[in-house]
Amino acid sequence: MNKQLNGKIALVTGGTSGIGLATAQELAAQGARVFITGRRQAELDAAVAAIGAAATGIRADASVLSDLDAVYAQIAKSEGKLDILFANAGGGDMMPLGAITEEHFDRIFGTNVRGVLFTVQKALPLLVNGASVILTSSTTSVLGTANFSVYSASKAAVRNFARSWALDLKERAIRVNVVSPGPIRTPGLGDLVPDEAR
Ligand code: NAP
Repeated sequence: MNKQLNGKIALVTGGTSGIGLATAQELAAQGARVFITGRRQAELDAAVAAIGAAATGIRADASVLSDLDAVYAQIAKSEGKLDILFANAGGGDMMPLGAITEEHFDRIFGTNVRGVLFTVQKALPLLVNGASVILTSSTTSVLGTANFSVYSASKAAVRNFARSWALDLKERAIRVNVVSPGPIRTPGLGDLVPDEAR
């Protein structure tokens, strides 16, 4: 069948759960070959099984640069190019100002900011001209949210990454967009938002 994304190679980081998994399933349904990453092997295996034959799982932590190198080495070896990059791996928890720890900051910025930066930068040699890069921010990137400042600030950084990188990559016609979801009922939303507010 002639599908919109036949022949396209996609990478979805954080593709084992929630928004990333749903996106990977849709990309595969549209004909793309989809690589997904996540840190937990069991969830990776389950997600690959759920997506089907078009999917390959690579265990990788988005905040660890050597893991990113291994992801791109595998895609380069098997496909030689990348058409779609969804830098989606991320998350965070709540911590009020006054109680914020170094660990809290480093973990959230490590994945959401440092991880997104190097996920995209390290993809550049593989990305084709005209490729599509999509980042996951959040509505809280432009709102104030009590007890959620570190996560919110990390997503504000992601929002600006998209705006700046769209300019950096325009000569290659690589589009960079950011999606900013409001609360979506995923495993990652967890206990952050009470049920009645979802
Ligand atoms: P989720 O269900 O918890 O999924 C998060 C995915 O990211 C999982 O596959 C997780 O797998 C992976 N991940 C987390 N940290 C990672 C790391 N350091 N390296 C590699 N993979 C990592 O959460 P979600 O709600 O779908 O969230 C997806 C994105 O949307 C996140 O960036 C989140 O901040 C953003 N977002 C979510 C909402 C919402 O309401 N759900 C709203 C706005 C923005 P492992 O844990 O196995 O690594």
